[in-house]
Amino acid sequence: KAKRGGILDCEEYDETMRHYIMTEQSIVNDMMEALQRGEFKVYLQPKYDAATERVVGAEALVRWIHPVRGEISPAEFIPVFEHNGFILKLDQFVWEETCRLLRKWINEDRNPPPVSVNVSRVDFYSTQLVNIIEKLVQKYHLPRELLELEITESAYTDNPQQIVRVVKELQQRGYKILMDDFGSGYSSLNMLKALPVDVLKLDLKFLDDKNETGRGGNILNSVVRMAKWMHLPVVVEGVETRQQVDFLRTIGCDYIQGYYFSRPIPVEDYEHLLAQRTFVPILGKESQWLDA
Ligand code: C2E
Ligand code: MG
Ligand code: MG
Ligand code: MG
Repeated sequence: KAKRGGILDCEEYDETMRHYIMTEQSIVNDMMEALQRGEFKVYLQPKYDAATERVVGAEALVRWIHPVRGEISPAEFIPVFEHNGFILKLDQFVWEETCRLLRKWINEDRNPPPVSVNVSRVDFYSTQLVNIIEKLVQKYHLPRELLELEITESAYTDNPQQIVRVVKELQQRGYKILMDDFGSGYSSLNMLKALPVDVLKLDLKFLDDKNETGRGGNILNSVVRMAKWMHLPVVVEGVETRQQVDFLRTIGCDYIQGYYFSRPIPVEDYEHLLAQRTFVPILGKESQWLDA
């Protein structure tokens, strides 16, 4: 018989669990249906070269266009999806949509710059992660460097050995790894040397003082300098003003992403941006995209 003592006895506990599991299951079912109904959309936020202010690629960011609630922010549903395990399904959808677009643009001779996708720390719980990504780039015949992978800094510190091993494998296969939200977690600058990372992404939202002459500016300045020592390019995101752009360029930040240049936009709008560029081969140098 059930023993008293805990908050719930076993029968009550079973009932509560059953209810809880059913609710979780019904949420997952709703999400799967929402995915099939096409309620999730991939938006693209362009990234700009800090020196030339030209588009050099984009980040894929998912949007849930709910029939009743309208556009729901990922900040609201990503944590829920990470909890109920739906995130890998959703991310697979975003990755595939991104691969499909890259293939379409290649076929249209647009010579597309890379697009980065977010990889949740929870995606690493799957032993199939590398396979899933490899299958996609093979299915769409993509050079691996076109699909960049953003992994949040805290994922590296969550489960260091396992995640670092998988990220290393991805990097060795030719994927570019961006460390997202660098500076928001706890990885020491020293630890960076041992981590598989190709690009650092800093978000201005983690600086409470955004004044370039204040502490925030000093921190940015030293992080960018440190990244240079390590030969790591730096993307700063969350850039909202002209002043920030100018400051970031002078301290040597390589790429900029933020509302100042563009919000995350629907695919068709990004295609218009790409169409405004012409491909210019430069002798003896890497070929470059220039605005038409
Ligand atoms: P993140 O990957 O660090 O993306 C940056 C977030 O900052 C995005 O929010 C973007 O819209 C926002 N942002 C960009 N520029 C500015 C700016 O100038 N000012 C401000 N205030 N915000 C700016 P979003 O799209 O709401 O996404 C939030 C987070 O949700 C993302 O942070 C990422 O961690 C997660 N996320 C979004 N899409 C996906 C996805 O497809 N898969 C996974 N696993 N996570 C995703
Ligand atoms: Mg990101
Ligand atoms: Mg970020
Ligand atoms: Mg951004």
